[in-house]
Amino acid sequence: MAYLHQHTKNEAARLNALRDLRLLDTPPSDAFDRLTRLASQLLGAPVSTISLTDGDRQWFKSKVGVDITEIPREQAPCSYAIEGEDIFVVPDLAADDRFRGSPLVEAGIRFYAGAPLFTRAGYGVGTICVVDDKPRDLDDAQKRVLRDLGGMVMSQIELQNMIGRVDPASGLPNQYQLFEDLEDLGRAMPGEAAALVLLELMSPVQAGHMARVLGASQVEEIVTGAMPVVRGAVGNAARIYHVGPQRCAVLLEGMLDERRAALPDALRRALAMPIPCGGLPVSLDPAVGAYEFAAGEVDPRDVLRRLLIAVADARVGTSRRARYDARLEASATRRFTLLNDFAAALEARDQLALVYQPRYGLATGRRIGVEALLRWTHPTLGPVSPAEFIPLVEQTAMARPLMDWVARAAFRQARDWQRAGLDLAVSVNASARNLDEDDFARRLLDRAAEAGVDPARIEVEFTESALAEDHAQVVAQMTALRAAGVRIAIDDFGTGYSNLSYIQSLPVSSIKIDRSFVLDLEASTKSRTLVQTMITMAHDLGYEVVAEGIETEGARDLLTAWGCDEGQGYLMSRPVAAGAIA
Ligand code: C2E
Ligand code: MG
Ligand code: MG
Repeated sequence: MAYLHQHTKNEAARLNALRDLRLLDTPPSDAFDRLTRLASQLLGAPVSTISLTDGDRQWFKSKVGVDITEIPREQAPCSYAIEGEDIFVVPDLAADDRFRGSPLVEAGIRFYAGAPLFTRAGYGVGTICVVDDKPRDLDDAQKRVLRDLGGMVMSQIELQNMIGRVDPASGLPNQYQLFEDLEDLGRAMPGEAAALVLLELMSPVQAGHMARVLGASQVEEIVTGAMPVVRGAVGNAARIYHVGPQRCAVLLEGMLDERRAALPDALRRALAMPIPCGGLPVSLDPAVGAYEFAAGEVDPRDVLRRLLIAVADARVGTSRRARYDARLEASATRRFTLLNDFAAALEARDQLALVYQPRYGLATGRRIGVEALLRWTHPTLGPVSPAEFIPLVEQTAMARPLMDWVARAAFRQARDWQRAGLDLAVSVNASARNLDEDDFARRLLDRAAEAGVDPARIEVEFTESALAEDHAQVVAQMTALRAAGVRIAIDDFGTGYSNLSYIQSLPVSSIKIDRSFVLDLEASTKSRTLVQTMITMAHDLGYEVVAEGIETEGARDLLTAWGCDEGQGYLMSRPVAAGAIA
């Protein structure tokens, strides 16, 4: 066992490399048996095997002429073969001190010739060998055959391993290959500084829009088309992985420091030019996240996850680049928890509740309606603001059950008030995403009918972002609601990019001036001018105007003087529980 002691240092890495091949103790396969048959035949030997050298055994993946499946490692000439660079030949085992007493000789074996199998990283993992029951040798041509067969075995192993590790569209290694390479890196240089960059060619939203307009295969084409540009910016030293539909990761190993530091910018510059796609030049919106870590000390899956967090952060800023920062993780974890737990909140009886903020006629001072606002008390995180969870939830399919929940609860409440003799209109907020549902209007009207509420008492508030959705769909849904008597309001008016002339193509009843303008009213001349103009223009176009965020008497008086129809705000009332309205 002398060789074992000599090599224990590299042995752990070698065994890892061997296990990574995922070949040990797998059933026989024809791909390998063909090669042993060929070896036996071409080299005129009765026995040929392909074997892997595990910690304490020699395990046979394929064999011709013998029945055993494994033998103890110390008896195997193969153990010597994997130590060398070239093929290992023992013309007569019985005449060789190393093997004279071995059970192989006792079993009648005299001749051994084996070609070592090396992984790409240079680990000797096994051999393909031939043995004979009489002493003999190989001539140069036969040695060449054995060497070539060794190469073929290794190609076969690598090929088998590549399956599922290459992206079929781009031909680049995929995330599973990245995970493996990160593990290798951790073994090869544990604790040393490593860095990865994740490039997202376009935002998931842009990709979605593009897939709808151009088709999914075109989006794929853009990604494939961008890869040579990415390669150009990265240089040849670094490995590029295709880790998502429009994302690639670059392992900065072997790249010079200056080049590393400049890479995010170099990538963004290189991708500033439009990429041709189906004859059309398409502009990308690349974002780059970077993560530096100690090799082997972070789980490969966490490495990728943290890069995704960095990229999401990069998307938020204008520079479109960000480094991973542990603080990002805390906020991403919270976002993840909120999203993850929202489905349960919809089912639970005690987590979601509506509060109601009264709306007043400014000229009369009369309370004419209420806006329903959602509140979530998370079981462990406590109260969570809708400004935090609604933007998350509305990006998912949960926007639909959320809208149903709100409509059901708000309309029931409206019915109860009605029964109690309170004549109040009720506004509910809808998400842009809700307009993707072609049964949106019907479901809302169903909820109203279930509760027995007159649709004329209901108002739905859409933010301007909702208007950026598919125009025909927006018109269809709003028209159906309006025809049933439901009022349509444009919420947070002035903060988006839509304009009054676009809104004119929709059956809108009122606009709600965003509270940011109203809060500013006394301090800013610009806000005063803007609000006054908005009121005049909206009235000219036939809309009612609601001001939200009225906190002071000064603001209320200005708005009243300018003819603003309705107002809501802390001055009159904060959002309160249903009981407090009566
Ligand atoms: P929004 O629809 O514009 O609602 C008005 C927000 O302004 C509410 O915040 C309200 O509490 C707050 N507010 C009212 N008066 C004043 C005031 O005088 N001063 C100030 N500073 N703020 C005032 P809230 O309840 O935190 O809701 C935030 C946003 O979350 C809402 O903005 C709405 O976009 C969304 N949201 C709330 N409930 C729902 C819901 O049920 N469904 C959907 N899709 N979105 C909702
Ligand atoms: Mg609102
Ligand atoms: Mg608003």
